[in-house]
Amino acid sequence: MDDQAHAARATWNLLHDLWTMTPKCQRSLTRMDAAIRQARKEIDWLGVLPAQATQAVLKTYLQAWKNCWDGRAEEPNFKARFRTVMSVDIPQGRDLQIKRVHRRWGMVNIPKVGRVRFRWTRDLPVGKTANADNRITGARLVKDALGWHIAFRVQNAEAKPEPHTGPEVGIDAGVNLPLALSDGNHQDHGRPARLPDGTADRDKWLTADEKAKLLRLEQRAAHRKSFRKPKERTSNRLRNCYDQIKQLRATATRRAADWQHKTTSRIAEQYGTVVVEQLAIPNMVKSARGTIEEPGKNVAQKSGLNRSISQEAWGRTVELLTYKTARKGGTLHKVPAPNTSRRCSACGFITPGSRQDQATFVCKNPDCGWSGNADHNAARNILHLYRIGLALVPAAGRAVVRRTRGVKPATAR
Ligand SMILES: [Zn+2]
Repeated sequence: MDDQAHAARATWNLLHDLWTMTPKCQRSLTRMDAAIRQARKEIDWLGVLPAQATQAVLKTYLQAWKNCWDGRAEEPNFKARFRTVMSVDIPQGRDLQIKRVHRRWGMVNIPKVGRVRFRWTRDLPVGKTANADNRITGARLVKDALGWHIAFRVQNAEAKPEPHTGPEVGIDAGVNLPLALSDGNHQDHGRPARLPDGTADRDKWLTADEKAKLLRLEQRAAHRKSFRKPKERTSNRLRNCYDQIKQLRATATRRAADWQHKTTSRIAEQYGTVVVEQLAIPNMVKSARGTIEEPGKNVAQKSGLNRSISQEAWGRTVELLTYKTARKGGTLHKVPAPNTSRRCSACGFITPGSRQDQATFVCKNPDCGWSGNADHNAARNILHLYRIGLALVPAAGRAVVRRTRGVKPATAR
């Protein structure tokens, strides 16, 4: 599988090279297709990747350009060996021959690898339950530190949901509470974002024992690394240490994703209208760092804050809420972010010094004096902004399309 994944990555890089080298007027799908066919014939290790999967790489590459021209993504770039997530696509569902062999295990055909056992984690339309409306259309293999995983693409026809009649709620991505809800029904995973000394806890999803193990592994890795001379190969022992560290981190990532999925499902189930604030996460993280001419102040503290924001993965929470509310018949709205955390949700005034510390909000307006959880306050403000009609129009409906200069979209299409 690793060979296939590296071949897929190399194919991407070659395609990118070819695309950028080819004069603009000659760029075309046929040309790219012919090139990868020839490359697969002539280069052995590119032929390791099944033809279908190679086609899938080409398709994804062209889609990446389309996403860029439509303003949804940056320009595609080379895929580096160590930073890239290893993955292989299986575009055709009928090649998979999925069979359930046990309550917990299934078997699947992986092209050029053979029959492989996989963990059966949810109902899949196979055998008698599969039909034209409800079937598996493909799969994708993805590798993380814990091994290879398979994700099936399932196509099923669902009845259009009835409009959700549940209550409205504003949600704030808090610093102390991962998700603060405007009705006080906060979603917390009981893992404080900060250590007692105030720094961000990047391993909060690990248990105390696992944290101790991680520390031990890191110390061991540092010790083994101290013997490594410049330009020497990483020893197997050191690599083993690194792998174990990565595995622990991958476990933490999975736990975080699990919590995120469960929580967003619950919210979509319960509420009909969900309002969130439009946060530009990359900007917040970048702005703390500052520029070379004007370096940011308190970068360490701020990036601690930002790291905990990034870790709560607000962008993905919104993404999950978008499709989950839609599936339940509810709606998601975004409101502009400025001042939601500084304004008092009881009287509506912004008073200086109201944010006493990260956790508590005390209104300094003499006629009001409301005090409470700062994240809760922001969530109430967010809901209020929606109620007075300040919801933003979804970005997908924009009429303006950003194009990279000099690339004719028509050639790729
Ligand atoms: Zn007030």
